[in-house]
Amino acid sequence: MAGNTQQLDGQPLIRIESVSRRYLRGVDDVHALEHVSLSIHAGRFVAFMGPSGSGKSTLMNLVSGIDRPSEGEVVVAGQSLGELDEDELAEWRAHHVGLIFQFFNLIPVLNALDNVALPLLLTDLSKAERVRRAETALRVVGLDERVGHYPRTLSGGEQQRVAIARAIVTDPDLIVADAPTGDLDARNAEAILELLRKLKNDFGKTIVMVTHDPRALRFVDQAFHLDKGLLLEGADADRADRAVQLAAGGGLISSLADVADQVRRSS
Ligand code: ADP
Repeated sequence: MAGNTQQLDGQPLIRIESVSRRYLRGVDDVHALEHVSLSIHAGRFVAFMGPSGSGKSTLMNLVSGIDRPSEGEVVVAGQSLGELDEDELAEWRAHHVGLIFQFFNLIPVLNALDNVALPLLLTDLSKAERVRRAETALRVVGLDERVGHYPRTLSGGEQQRVAIARAIVTDPDLIVADAPTGDLDARNAEAILELLRKLKNDFGKTIVMVTHDPRALRFVDQAFHLDKGLLLEGADADRADRAVQLAAGGGLISSLADVADQVRRSS
């Protein structure tokens, strides 16, 4: 899995130039994003963080070509997404972006192998090659012994690993993850963050993750903090980083308190 990324000569893989996204809700104009500019280099693992309604999902949808900005430009792997019509954009997404969701979005009637091979049905690869690639992807996520298992027979953490295998099976430049640890317990959440970091370290993948999970800060190269549609910068961004770090510490303290509580009750 070497990646499809073309040589970008030191250019960022993702370039967002003064992007705004407004929605009309009734008579109200909702400013979901206001003049956001940022760059992400290839091989980086970054998080979009911020309170609910701050514009994280909107930004993620623009980066992955699911949505278009009201203003500004989104360039990914040298392609300005605004230049593509709907069909071209869908084709571009299929080749360049692997998506991971909070609730895994696996097909219940397909086993792990068939779920992972699904995106390859859009290619002209032979059945044997599709199976070979799906098996490789499942090996990368550590689930090669679960190929024949159906989603309902897998744990949440295992289902998310299958979903990650599905996201990497087409060897995309970019992996976009929407709250991938949001439905997992602490142990599985850390394992999934560790796996995403491995995809970056071992396979050079670029990963953009929307998350509320303060643990994520230990795994990502950079967190972009949003608030009310604005990207926080400078001292504001540092303050937001520290607040998330404090929340992560708070999480540790409260889980230690849980353990102490359990010990007290069982003695
Ligand atoms: P976050 O992911 O940080 O919770 P979102 O990007 O989902 O935030 O939303 C940002 C703002 O845009 C919110 O006020 C939300 O209600 C609004 N919004 C998002 N999508 C739509 C839509 N399709 N129509 C109208 N308003 C929307």
